[in-house]
Amino acid sequence: MLDLTYEAPKPKIIAGATGDWELVIGMEIHAQVASNAKLFSGASTQVGAEPNSNVSFVDCAMPGMLPVINDFCVEQAVRSGLGLKAAINLRSAFDRKNYFYPDLPQGYQISQLYHPIVGEGEVLVELSPGVARHVRIERIHLEQDAGKSIHDMDPNMSFVDFNRTGVALMEIVSRPDIRGPEEAAAYVSKLRQILRYLGTCDGNMQNGNLRADVNVSVCRPGDYERYQATQDFGHLGTRCEIKNMNSLRFIQQAIDYEARRQIAILEDGGKVMQETRLYDPDKGETRSMRSKEEAHDYRYFPCPDLLPLEIDQAWVNDIAARMPELPDAKKARFMADFGLTDYDANVLTAELDSAAFFEDVAKGRDGKQAANWIINELFGRLNKEGKAVTESPLSAAQIGGVLDLIASGEITTKMAKDLFEILWSEGGNPAEVAAKHGMKQVTDTGAIEAALDALIAANPDQVEKAKVNAKLAGWFTGQVLKATGGKANPAVVNQMVAQKLGL
Ligand code: ADP
Ligand code: MG
Repeated sequence: MLDLTYEAPKPKIIAGATGDWELVIGMEIHAQVASNAKLFSGASTQVGAEPNSNVSFVDCAMPGMLPVINDFCVEQAVRSGLGLKAAINLRSAFDRKNYFYPDLPQGYQISQLYHPIVGEGEVLVELSPGVARHVRIERIHLEQDAGKSIHDMDPNMSFVDFNRTGVALMEIVSRPDIRGPEEAAAYVSKLRQILRYLGTCDGNMQNGNLRADVNVSVCRPGDYERYQATQDFGHLGTRCEIKNMNSLRFIQQAIDYEARRQIAILEDGGKVMQETRLYDPDKGETRSMRSKEEAHDYRYFPCPDLLPLEIDQAWVNDIAARMPELPDAKKARFMADFGLTDYDANVLTAELDSAAFFEDVAKGRDGKQAANWIINELFGRLNKEGKAVTESPLSAAQIGGVLDLIASGEITTKMAKDLFEILWSEGGNPAEVAAKHGMKQVTDTGAIEAALDALIAANPDQVEKAKVNAKLAGWFTGQVLKATGGKANPAVVNQMVAQKLGL
């Protein structure tokens, strides 16, 4: 694996009236576990089902019903932990977090406060080539999702849909290591990418399958370093938590607004109150939702319905042995094996489908050229039509076929672009389509020479000009290409022009 070394990024600094302020951000990400059944019942997790059709007696908390752990959800949490290079706790336990909510029929959420299944890990967050930060993960715990209250279907009534009640969530808690809005967005993207590679969460933010609670505080330069040296939170400012963010753009806007709000309070001689806030994207501001509740407000206690969760190291090892290649490793391999730039490798590894497509095309070919064609021609074209790489009208084999025709000198790059267009709309075998459309690069020097000789004879003044200024020899190259209908190999023409004019 390529050894990439990174420089630490600078924290975002906001200049206040009384001096500079730095941002400190920690995130709690709720990621819905990719699983067909819920965490403690066999009910389906299918989205878009008829309201209240995927609800078992356990999910709607009928008296006497007992939760039974879904071991696939546990496996997914372990896999996620391994993907974040985290410690897996062989013994964890579930706790009841008590609170009332109309879409939480149990009156409590089963979560893991004291003994989470996954311990400390880390995520490498790259901001630009060679600039990255390791954001520490504090823990991942498993918990149940709540249902959905619907207030806008009837003027006098509210409705509740329990389909989502009891679906498994992983809460992934970071240390407060994120130092600015862009880093926060980059962190969420990277985490999402890793989970998608692992297949443990589909990362669909629009549907709320991955959403973030963003904790923001501000401090003076030097304070964060003091916190790092001691791990004493006393060096940091009081945080506010912005709940339930599911857009990278809004996360950044909310952090920026919230930091400035806190700075204004502090510079006014006030105190930031620790509280839970909501971001209003229409107004571009955060507003208070409730004062911060403490863990003891929830009267947490071990869930008496569930035994502590004990897993075997051998099982964890088995999951570890079946881990897919993760984004950092894939990127490093693409750079090392195919000679890709940092940028190209990032683009091609952003999604597994793109990476697989690239590898199919690049296998046995010039990787850099394959990357250029996929990123510039294919992705450009797919974006224009709003298509995913999996919906590409051109297969990897077809693009590979086009690259082979260029590599063997049979067609020019210009012809290849035309061929690409024809294949895009009509399909077909690249070599056959090229032949059918008379796409054939003239490398036959006889034909090129004849065209050039005719030009030289007919344009003595151009010959004189080119002899004085070699740059003007390009005119002859252009004319030969024109005369041969763009079929001549430009490199061969250039060489011959230089030779004939004695340049
Ligand atoms: P809670 O569950 O009550 O919100 P946690 O201890 O789980 O509290 O931490 C919540 C998040 O807040 C973590 O991601 C943590 O890194 C972050 N955090 C803690 N202190 C600060 C701070 N001073 N500034 C920014 N983020 C913080
Ligand atoms: Mg929280």
